[in-house]
Amino acid sequence: MEQKIIGFDQDELGDWRAILACGHRQHVRHDPPFVNRPWVLTEDGRRRFLGAPLECVKCDDGEPVGDGVVSAAALEAAYARFAAELDGYIRRRAPDEAAAANALRRALVAIDAAADTYESARLEEWLATRIDATLPESPAQSADGLTELAAAARALVDCLPGLHRQAIILTDYRGLSERELAARLDLPLDAAAARLSAARRMLAEALHDCCDTLL
Ligand SMILES: [Zn+2]
Repeated sequence: MEQKIIGFDQDELGDWRAILACGHRQHVRHDPPFVNRPWVLTEDGRRRFLGAPLECVKCDDGEPVGDGVVSAAALEAAYARFAAELDGYIRRRAPDEAAAANALRRALVAIDAAADTYESARLEEWLATRIDATLPESPAQSADGLTELAAAARALVDCLPGLHRQAIILTDYRGLSERELAARLDLPLDAAAARLSAARRMLAEALHDCCDTLL
């Protein structure tokens, strides 16, 4: 995921790091002949690269910037994103406005009722199963549909505190097993498994809370 450079700082060895808009830091060393970034050594050079995009692998891996609980404003924004994505998905599959509004309401009720059954699966697949059953003409689950719902799923995953969000992203989205997750996070296997199951419970709660708020 691309993120803009919003500043620079130095690590304990004096190597330059870019501070990205997401809050992650990424080394931008000048280390010839392997990496040529002479601009990073001067203040003027660094200023020229403010606003430039960098690929942030930490964002792709869901690495938390902090583990603070998500703010109320951020939750509200995430729920709104979830609702908008769901609405779009349903509208593209409903014959008219009234049918779409009806189906959206039924989908939220169905998701709320089933939230406790959510377990290990990409959230968009779980959502598609619930939503498609409420549509006037239940479509065959398609790759396109899942891609459309991925943004809705991601909005809810973003409601989790950093470490729990990371556990979900690394397993369900990056495909790590519990054992690989433990190795990656440098945790004993049971601690990694406990974090993952806590994260799934939080996601089920987010589904409930989000639907209750929207209904
Ligand atoms: Zn990032």
